[in-house]
Amino acid sequence: MSKKKNRPHGHYCKICGEYKANEKFSGKGHAAHICKACSRLSAAEKADAMAINRMMGFPMRRLSDGEKKWLQAKMYDKSPEVADTAREIYNICFPYAERNAMKKQLIINTLSFEVHTEVYDGYGDMELADRRFTIDRKSRVLTMTDFCTDSGEQSVTLEGREMSKLLRYIVHTLEIFMWEQDYCLNPDEDDFFTDILLGEGIYEDDLEEKEEALPAEPEGRPSWQVHIEYSSHTVQDISSYVECLPERPEELYLTFMEYFELDEDDFESGFRF
Ligand SMILES: [Zn+2]
Repeated sequence: MSKKKNRPHGHYCKICGEYKANEKFSGKGHAAHICKACSRLSAAEKADAMAINRMMGFPMRRLSDGEKKWLQAKMYDKSPEVADTAREIYNICFPYAERNAMKKQLIINTLSFEVHTEVYDGYGDMELADRRFTIDRKSRVLTMTDFCTDSGEQSVTLEGREMSKLLRYIVHTLEIFMWEQDYCLNPDEDDFFTDILLGEGIYEDDLEEKEEALPAEPEGRPSWQVHIEYSSHTVQDISSYVECLPERPEELYLTFMEYFELDEDDFESGFRF
């Protein structure tokens, strides 16, 4: 006697997406693939449950253009539950879409970046850094304060185009606005989808990697921190208590250092028109 393999037990309900025993269906419901529990829902509730049930399967495969459009429309659904789920699913299926949309809008007005930990010095050695950098877009002034020395605050004024280029690099390439999320500095405890994906064994590798970056218990002063004010009046504050500087904060550090490693003459000659 041959049996179909891997066929779930029970009868499928198209509303809740579950396989249930036959007695959970009425005669009419059995034919219509709607279980007794779901048949008690209003038409609107049925539609919402079906939409959520449909989108839950999306992260496991590649979506068609039609499915992508449908999901995008659901992000603005009048049911908050449907809209929230659609946004979460969309960000999982298209992780860079949200970033790229944000990048177009973000302009840094002022930035302050402090580093109080060991960093790569750009020449193959580690050094203990104790520095603060600031940028002001309007005055185009970049400053550096080295707390290890008495030299005080040093500053350079950038040419307009050079300043825009630097600020664009920080947003577009270093994606500084995503650092909390990328480096798990502000873990979202209500992230229900993380639980779902963990349960499915999906993205487990990604999450394991991220867990290593989880902040230690705050103790003493941060090893590095960022304060940014954007032109939209949004303020971003990041503090990390993890000893080492992650990749992109380190790139930012080295980028800033380049402006202060040149002596005055070298610097001037680098900006001839
Ligand atoms: Zn059902």
